[in-house]
Amino acid sequence: MDGKALAARIRAEVAREVTAFARPIGLATVLVGDDPASEVYIRLKHKATLEVGIEARDLRLPASTSEEELLSLVAELNADDAIDGILVQLPLPDGLDEGRVINAINPLKDVDGIHPVNGGLLLAGTPAHVPGTPLGVLELLDEYRVELRGANAVVIGRSNIVGKPVALLLLHRHATVTICHSRTRDLAAETSRADVIVAAVGVPRLVQPEMVKEGAAVIDVGITRTEDGLVGDVAPEVATRAGLLTPVPGGVGPMTIAMLLKSTVRAARYRRKELAHPVT
Ligand code: NAP
Repeated sequence: MDGKALAARIRAEVAREVTAFARPIGLATVLVGDDPASEVYIRLKHKATLEVGIEARDLRLPASTSEEELLSLVAELNADDAIDGILVQLPLPDGLDEGRVINAINPLKDVDGIHPVNGGLLLAGTPAHVPGTPLGVLELLDEYRVELRGANAVVIGRSNIVGKPVALLLLHRHATVTICHSRTRDLAAETSRADVIVAAVGVPRLVQPEMVKEGAAVIDVGITRTEDGLVGDVAPEVATRAGLLTPVPGGVGPMTIAMLLKSTVRAARYRRKELAHPVT
């Protein structure tokens, strides 16, 4: 499954929407500290944002930033009319309470879909902002016309940003969903009867060919940096059994960024009341 090509198409669509929009659209990204992986993600997001014509505000704060300082920046961005979307790059440095910071973001501007209000709306089946990676996973499955209704879907990983929202999106599409995690007793037994596998763990080669049913669609969300570059959670030999497989890199990664841009346009529509956000 070619996430790079699909993401390029989505970005082109977003660029057209941005041009047609009645006023400029603004996204603020906030990076606290100097975690190298976060630095790379922010740089990629920033570049993609500018390319589609969204005005990007790239805010960098030192690791020594206090929680009060960060909260007051979030409050400023909430009140700033030029800013439609706010993305606080996680993880935050030790000593900063992520929950408090996330809760401070206006749910309308929460383009990462991590505010509990947006999480709750997804749970209720009336999603508003949803995290980009899960949205990207569903776009890929739709692009390749993978039947979800009644399918056995196994999601490996249960984080709030990937595993849980992917599982909910699949459930809303009428898949029979199993969520696996580090305490799952027999992972292979679960995956080997799955029509769809979404691996979001961060353990290289966790999913081996013998764990995959012939013809299954396998989405590899995992990213681990190794000496040989980025590797996913799925062993490349799984391609010999899977009907469809996403590469790493070039699969889910580019989709995550494309969906963030789409969510930023959505945020601008919420703010202009072209779209109704269910709780505001
Ligand atoms: P996370 O918060 O660390 O969650 C990892 C999950 O994997 C946890 O639920 C954990 O179980 C489970 N797990 C760990 N070891 C396992 C094992 N041996 N067998 C089964 N489950 C296991 O990570 P995340 O933020 O969800 O990210 C997951 C991966 O996706 C990471 O590699 C991350 O870099 C990558 N990622 C990629 C993108 C992208 O755009 N491609 C975006 C976001 C994340 P417990 O809950 O029991 O601990």
